[in-house]
Amino acid sequence: MKGTFTIGRIAGITISVHYTWFFILILISWSLAQGLFPSTYPGWSTTEYWITSIIAALLLFASVLVHELAHSLVAKSKNIPVNSITLFLFGGVSNLEKEPETSGAEFIMAFVGPLSSLILAFIFLGMQIVISPGSNILAFVLGQPSGISNPIVALLNYLGWINFLLAIFNLIPGFPLDGGRVLRAIIWGVTGNFRKATNIAATIGQVFGWMFIGFGILQIFTGNFINGIWIAFIGWFLNSAAESSKQEMTFQQHFRGVKVQAVMTSNPKTINPTLPVSNLIHDVFLQGGYRAAAVVQDDRFLGIVTLTDVKKLNEQNWDTTTIETIMTKQPIYSVKPDDELRAALNLIAQYGLNQIPVLQDNKIVGMLNRADIIRYLQISQELGANNNAK
Ligand SMILES: [Zn+2]
Repeated sequence: MKGTFTIGRIAGITISVHYTWFFILILISWSLAQGLFPSTYPGWSTTEYWITSIIAALLLFASVLVHELAHSLVAKSKNIPVNSITLFLFGGVSNLEKEPETSGAEFIMAFVGPLSSLILAFIFLGMQIVISPGSNILAFVLGQPSGISNPIVALLNYLGWINFLLAIFNLIPGFPLDGGRVLRAIIWGVTGNFRKATNIAATIGQVFGWMFIGFGILQIFTGNFINGIWIAFIGWFLNSAAESSKQEMTFQQHFRGVKVQAVMTSNPKTINPTLPVSNLIHDVFLQGGYRAAAVVQDDRFLGIVTLTDVKKLNEQNWDTTTIETIMTKQPIYSVKPDDELRAALNLIAQYGLNQIPVLQDNKIVGMLNRADIIRYLQISQELGANNNAK
């Protein structure tokens, strides 16, 4: 994520903060210092309200960090590398290198997050009862003056209930929320169908997203402007995350385990660098229907020449210019036949390539074109429509 910086490392996991985190830190501190704490615990000084509020906001984020660490540590125990945890506008996110491979691993990984929030809730509320037995345990829920007006009691009560709410919110059974992941793991475990499980859980995620948006808009019209905007915003975020999870999954699914070899054009058109460009245009592009050729001399792969290279040359020079002058020479991006197709796709997307030469022992054995990939995707989608395999 852009705009993040590292604040430390825990158990080999980099902890980063996105700049939007500061907005929410200020917003939460402000709303506590101006609203919740003065109305529930009257009679403190302004400084006391602000200090308690800032500590509350910081400890809320520490709680979110504990929640994410629970996910990440379980992931690591399941041999899934965790790159980092990032705290941002909507809380936290663990950046895992891959998805869990079994429904059991996914279930436990997803469930420990809300479970840790729930445990934190019991710890904070338990501490409140121990420290101040006569204080109102429902102060945050009821928003009423609590009787005992002590900043420590206020902090514990707030953190207890906010962690409880975090657990409940994350248990909503819509993907990509934790509850949605738990649901996906259950459907996946029962049916053995990962794709179907993701689709159902993400569709429920979208429905919840729309419900939040609707409820937020309702709040805005009934005068609860800030809350309404916030709820609608969360709904929008949930909805679009569910949508893109679906797309990403469809995409990944079709290319899972596929090698470059299966998709590439074998025996690509080759051409000698000493020939004139007109030769290339007539034999390779116009008659052969290719958009690129491998430039080869004495069995050695020298580079590629494409339609784009030719377009830069004036038509009157086609007969007098050799291919060598306009071609793209080695070193260029290339892949091997038994490379994962996904790795090749990343190269194509990252560098905006139209094709990648496929080399084995420095000899050209194929060309992977965008058109090859699109054709493969279309065919695999048509065949996959009735295919219930994982
Ligand atoms: Zn979580």
